Amino acid sequence: MTYPNEPRSDEKALVTDPVCGMKVDPATAAARREYDGTTFWFCSTGCADAFDADPHRYGHPQTAD
Ligand SMILES: [Zn+2]
Repeated sequence: MTYPNEPRSDEKALVTDPVCGMKVDPATAAARREYDGTTFWFCSTGCADAFDADPHRYGHPQTAD
């Protein structure tokens, strides 16, 4: 018996809001931004505003500081 490699249907649509770390569904996200070729979604316009203020900081969360 084998299992498909596709993501679970209840998880595939969720992305992480880079500002607050919350999981959001792109279909219902309050705001969206594109930066450096990547699309980000946000739980609220407040988080999107924070991203706009410093997109480099949030657009590269893996960068240690
Ligand atoms: Zn947020």
